[in-house]
Amino acid sequence: MTDEKHPPGLASDPSRTPGQGLTKEDAVFRLWEGHWRYMRNERTVRPVSESDRHDHSRGQFPFVAFLGCSDSRMSPELIFDQVQGDIFVVRVAGNITGPGVTASLEYAVEVLGVRLIFILGHEQCGAVMAATDDPDLSGPIGALVREILPAVEEARTQPGCVLDNSVIANVRRSVHRLGEESAAIAQRIRCGDVRIVGAVYGMQSGDISVVETLG
Ligand SMILES: [Zn+2]
Repeated sequence: MTDEKHPPGLASDPSRTPGQGLTKEDAVFRLWEGHWRYMRNERTVRPVSESDRHDHSRGQFPFVAFLGCSDSRMSPELIFDQVQGDIFVVRVAGNITGPGVTASLEYAVEVLGVRLIFILGHEQCGAVMAATDDPDLSGPIGALVREILPAVEEARTQPGCVLDNSVIANVRRSVHRLGEESAAIAQRIRCGDVRIVGAVYGMQSGDISVVETLG
């Protein structure tokens, strides 16, 4: 039966409400379900149809905001088995925060109604490797690498592999810096509305290990 107030597929469809109507817990569960499908090679291939494009032209309704490294092996729609329109994606080498990144994620929370921000670093990250091996690079790459140096300095005080520990410290740093750089996100975390999850992707295993949670 058609809802007379709303045409089919518009506001009557929960997937077309802010944040797809999901709480932070719902969003985490849906993301992990997708990742388990990816890990079991049961990824559901859903080509984007003409009808999907028609829906997309009427607005976006992602349920999660993602900050990840630009590395070509880190496509979130594949790793979490989600379709176009589900993930609000921000990617930058080394998954660092900064004005443009923080503004984009704040937009996802405040305007699009997303309640989960997922920050994903990864093993063998070239940006973190540059910060451990060649911190004196110049130009824009040098500026980016310097953003990662505090994480490397922290990792050098810990036992174990400096690169692996730097990747973890860098993700944790992004989680907390995002909370510091956006008053709006910080407020929503305090209220219990929003969660930031920081994790590391295993390049060979495909595993995702959570290393920090805020909210
Ligand atoms: Zn990387």
